[in-house]
Amino acid sequence: MASRPPSPDAIAAGDTIAAIATPAGHGGVGIVRLSGPRSHDVAHALCATGLRARHAHHVRFRDASGQTIDDGIALRFDAPRSYTGEDVVELQAHGSPVVLRELLARCCELGARLARPGEFSERAFRNGRLDLAQAEAVADLIAAGDERAARAARRSLDGEFSRRVDTLADALLRVRVQVEAAIDFADEPLDTLGAEAVAAALAGIGGSLDALVADAERGRKLRDGLHAVIVGPPNAGKSSLLNALAGSDRAIVTDVAGTTRDLLTETIRSDGVELVLVDTAGLREGGDAIEREGMRRARAELARADLAIVVLDAREPAAGRAGQADAVAAVPRILWLHNKIDLAGDGQGAGIGTGADPLRVSALTGAGLDRLHAALRDLAGADAGSGEGTFSARARQVEALGRAAGHLAEARQALAGGTLDLAAEGLRCAHDALGEVTGRVVPDALLGHIFSTFCIGK
Ligand code: GDP
Repeated sequence: MASRPPSPDAIAAGDTIAAIATPAGHGGVGIVRLSGPRSHDVAHALCATGLRARHAHHVRFRDASGQTIDDGIALRFDAPRSYTGEDVVELQAHGSPVVLRELLARCCELGARLARPGEFSERAFRNGRLDLAQAEAVADLIAAGDERAARAARRSLDGEFSRRVDTLADALLRVRVQVEAAIDFADEPLDTLGAEAVAAALAGIGGSLDALVADAERGRKLRDGLHAVIVGPPNAGKSSLLNALAGSDRAIVTDVAGTTRDLLTETIRSDGVELVLVDTAGLREGGDAIEREGMRRARAELARADLAIVVLDAREPAAGRAGQADAVAAVPRILWLHNKIDLAGDGQGAGIGTGADPLRVSALTGAGLDRLHAALRDLAGADAGSGEGTFSARARQVEALGRAAGHLAEARQALAGGTLDLAAEGLRCAHDALGEVTGRVVPDALLGHIFSTFCIGK
């Protein structure tokens, strides 16, 4: 089947992008994806044959001289029924980095250009195939650290989160119309315009919004992981413990950009919990500017922690205990650990992690670490719920929802006080904040930032 040449309008509508859509070097199948008005032409030239939409073609991918780069499967999707809403072609080849790079280069010779990170999803968003929350869920699904996080991202991608936001935005819009009308017909008494009904509607929206904020926050925790800090007196074995946890294959060692190494050392993720080492010994008065900055960060880390793991030396657990308890007093959950049980020789049980019955471990020998892993898994699970019905959400979205709730509360107050124009303004701001979640109202700069964090090819 011959492909039609693209119309000039189609070319003007956007250029054609290409990218390797699966990580190279993993063997198996590698995919090069094309999107844009010239996709079919590029694929036609590359495969030396036309493609039928939504049919799998076994083809040879050829270079400029007609030599075979590889053979594989080509799939054509016509706009608007494609991931991006544009003409799309997917080329499945062998998962060799060399082959995939050559295919990509050939696509670019034929008129495509390399896609930017997230550009496929950005196009899907701009063409109305996905809203912003769904597009972000694509990235979250790919980055999901465990099954629960993946399921939650899948629910957001299916639109569960967006539907709840849209339902509230629609309800809010109906009230806005009523309030704006009341302003326009200021001569009429408000009651004839249903002030009580408006107040009741807003109360209902407020309740639903609060519930949505709470659910989104659970989803954010599932995505970001439970945030824990490890504290304890010097030499108690905090770093050793972090390394012992990082040594398990569940953990990923990451850098915390820009942290002062003396005060905040490493961050790892283990059992769905993000663990940051905070040196509370550094939490003292005075110090030079660098030290004060380190302390500020250490305090900020403690302030946003969901969990504190207090590590004490099992041989002298009283040492520094009171100081540690003070430092973590405001953290919602505390897990007490006595480390170095190999030296202490205490014959006590494994412990459950309370102050009265601490978990007993040895970072050196690994004794008790199974219990610690189990405790962390429990805590991560308890905090994010079973994950059942949870959708993934991001801090950006939780923050926007929180702002919407704030504006709504102001609007309700203004309405109760009879200042309709203030109420209208509050409702408009609340409505806009909801729109930021799904991307109905979102500045281009923010969009650029969001999509730039995606992988190339997605
Ligand atoms: P931090 O200052 O709290 O981070 O403590 P470190 O992790 O640097 O450990 C201080 C010292 O205690 C090091 O020499 C570690 O090798 C040692 N250490 C840490 N944990 C254990 C343990 O469980 N058993 C033994 N015997 N030594 C340990």
